[in-house]
Amino acid sequence: MQGVCVLLLLGLRLQLSLGFIPVEEENPAFWNHQAAQALDVAKKLQPIQTAAKNVILFLGDGMGVPTVTATRILKGQMNGKLGPETPLAMDQFPYVALSKTYNVDRQVPDSAGTATAYLCGVKGNYKTIGVSAAARYNQCNTTSGNEVTSVMNRAKKAGKSVGVVTTSRVQHASPAGAYAHTVNRNWYSDADLPADAQTYGCQDIATQLVNNMDIDVILGGGRMYMFPEGTPDPEYPYDVNQTGVRKDKRNLVQEWQAKHQGAQYVWNRTELLQAASDSSVTHLMGLFEPADMKYNVQQDHTMDPTLEEMTEAALQVLSRNPRGFYLFVEGGRIDHGHHEGKAYMALTDTVMFDNAIAKANELTSELDTLILVTADHSHVFSFGGYTLRGTSIFGLAPSKASDNKSYTSILYGNGPGYVLGGGSRPNVNDSISEDPSYRQQAAVPLSSESHGGEDVAVFARGPQAHLIHGVQEETFVAHVMAFAGCVEPYTDCNLPAPSGLSDAAHLAASPPSLALLAGSMLLLLAPALY
Ligand SMILES: [Zn+2]
Repeated sequence: MQGVCVLLLLGLRLQLSLGFIPVEEENPAFWNHQAAQALDVAKKLQPIQTAAKNVILFLGDGMGVPTVTATRILKGQMNGKLGPETPLAMDQFPYVALSKTYNVDRQVPDSAGTATAYLCGVKGNYKTIGVSAAARYNQCNTTSGNEVTSVMNRAKKAGKSVGVVTTSRVQHASPAGAYAHTVNRNWYSDADLPADAQTYGCQDIATQLVNNMDIDVILGGGRMYMFPEGTPDPEYPYDVNQTGVRKDKRNLVQEWQAKHQGAQYVWNRTELLQAASDSSVTHLMGLFEPADMKYNVQQDHTMDPTLEEMTEAALQVLSRNPRGFYLFVEGGRIDHGHHEGKAYMALTDTVMFDNAIAKANELTSELDTLILVTADHSHVFSFGGYTLRGTSIFGLAPSKASDNKSYTSILYGNGPGYVLGGGSRPNVNDSISEDPSYRQQAAVPLSSESHGGEDVAVFARGPQAHLIHGVQEETFVAHVMAFAGCVEPYTDCNLPAPSGLSDAAHLAASPPSLALLAGSMLLLLAPALY
């Protein structure tokens, strides 16, 4: 029996290294049937013309289209399939558009200026967050008067609960676009503020996180920016490099808790899961690392929640509001994996990002919840080389390069994977390229691989998802969210309430007593709504 297994394994390995042609795919009927089914689904597609009670934006930081395709192959193979034919959760959304990601001042953008675009609906400059392009990078005195307001902020004003979930630090450029206004994305804590910024009264991003607006759920990394300088970290109490860094001696977590009755702060997975299921918790802040959270494959899953778990916890808390919620979920470290030139880290984090999308899709109804999935920008990540069907996404092209050496399918246009020292490119084999810490080769040496400038995709399902079409400016994402949620500047959206949910989408405009009554009825009717 054991021998048979070994033979089967060897057979599979042989097949994989030689590529694989599924016998059913040799038959034209297979493709004709598959496409006819897809055509049938397309013909029956009906826009959901109501307002959205809830809006969720999933942002894969740096998740360009090549990253989406490579992740599809990886996730398919992790599930025992050949790969490219197996749809991701995001692939199953019915509407798609392309988003033009440039910043006002840069053709190839960063995560700060783009966050302003897709979260606030206005394009900004490179490295600036939540301010129009009239504000200049690093010039504190150009901030005041140029602030722009996020859809999350407007959703809060409309009576919805709001949340920010990320695998990077919660003060990082993308989540900061939901609540902060700053001309420098690196002003994480007051220790990062230059003297002139202090003089002109610019605030660090961590301070803005707790001061600018009432955020019901905050989950991610970033403990060190919240506590006074030298405060030992609860997880790494003896590491002097992981202590609090605030020079103003403020304890921002304590300040945040004092503002809200029912506010709970947690810093590990067990505490998070407990707090999320406790209905007396109205506000939840979970900070799981001193700075960014770890890559999914490097997490200690007893201490660190996955992005999927954080998404579920956020939905548990936010969905208690009968007026609905707005949630931003970021796969923040996809971008970091690419910057390091380590495709394994980027793609495995994208698999987890897609798992979180699948979870949100399962826990909400497309009849009342608009889900958008997009990226802020791409990377100079590519995969090619005519690899055989069924081979590893981290594997080799089947033919040798002109220098008579092997090459990986995945390559970077630039970055730390540059290896042409002495004019000779090193050879590579499967055991090298499959190592999780392997850096794929890059054409130009950079300590950090750069973003890419091409368009990214936007995937959508739910009320008003059909507006996601064509080639759009990145700002369009914010405007679709605001319109579907009937929040400023689209409070006159004139959209009917989601079907079967009374007047939930319009509760904010109703007299309070009626709103409360309808709210409690909703809670009774829909205990498993989240
Ligand atoms: Zn980046």
